[in-house]
Amino acid sequence: MSGRIPQHFIDELLNRVDIVDVIDARVPLKKAGRQYTACCPFHDEKTPSFTVSPNKQFYHCFGCGAHGTAVGFLMEYEHLAFPEAIESLAQNLGLEVPREEDARGSSARRPDTTPLYELLARSDGFYRQQLRNHPQAGRAIDYLKKRGLSGEIAAEFGIGYAPPGWDNLQNALADNDGVREQLISVGMLIRKDDERTYDRFRDRIMFPIRDRRGRTIAFGGRILDSGEPKYLNSPETPLFHKGRELYGLFEARKALRQIPRLLVVEGYMDVVSLAQFGVHYAVATLGTATTREHLSQLFRVTPEVVFCFDGDRAGREAAWRALENALSVMREGYELRFMFLPEGEDPDSHIRAVGRETFENEMGTALPF
Ligand SMILES: [Zn+2]
Repeated sequence: MSGRIPQHFIDELLNRVDIVDVIDARVPLKKAGRQYTACCPFHDEKTPSFTVSPNKQFYHCFGCGAHGTAVGFLMEYEHLAFPEAIESLAQNLGLEVPREEDARGSSARRPDTTPLYELLARSDGFYRQQLRNHPQAGRAIDYLKKRGLSGEIAAEFGIGYAPPGWDNLQNALADNDGVREQLISVGMLIRKDDERTYDRFRDRIMFPIRDRRGRTIAFGGRILDSGEPKYLNSPETPLFHKGRELYGLFEARKALRQIPRLLVVEGYMDVVSLAQFGVHYAVATLGTATTREHLSQLFRVTPEVVFCFDGDRAGREAAWRALENALSVMREGYELRFMFLPEGEDPDSHIRAVGRETFENEMGTALPF
């Protein structure tokens, strides 16, 4: 029972726990729309002002301001210390809490991913700083302005700039071989056959890809010139699994108290442009078709999902694939629709042409599943 609880275990636990189950087992909840309510266990009241949001995995009391996660709830309600609350949640899921000491010397020990997250956070900071300060960043800023993005939206999405050159990030972050290895494992550096290493992202606008807790786990980079590929993503790494992540989901949850629906578009630029027009609920898959795992994630957040496709043949084929994957995920109460853009338009050009209101109306009348 001593020793630190490994971070990877806490992460995994928080991903699996549903706050609704945790609270409902102690304070019976009633469903009210997309939330659950009850009389607040933390202050005396006769009409319920205590709410639990399955989307946000938070509880909030409008009466006394009590607020927190599943872990926070257990700590407050059962007067537990943090490790005890973790123990209690794990027990409910039938999991044993590993301890750093127990794992010492064991071959089953999972590597600690904390330094990898830290390195990606530092990469993130580096790219943002380059967008502000690098002598060549003007081209990136011109591009963002041309796409009509405000500084506010760029900041919300953490957009940065990877300057031209083979070793900018490497020189900024890798002060020893250990860090260099870690940067390779998170996809930021590439090792050539002759053992030399170089930056994966060069002269690109950088979009940090964040997990549901807001940690940067990968990047997407858009080229500034006419080079190829136009969009480059981090490879699969210990932190980044393309078939699981959705670009923009963290930002949508942050921007909106209630997510009315999720709109699935093709690329990060579409997500950011739509947010600029006030559509804060667009997400994009990352260089893969929509997987079943994506779909179940989407429906965990909202019962209404709209896919937005180009009107061309490739768009119709992508729609068909999404539809096939959706078959096994669809449940009663879920709504899935397919919106086809006029040929030659993307979400950005289309919302510019017709305006937000018409765009949102078109979503509402898109082809149902
Ligand atoms: Zn209260």
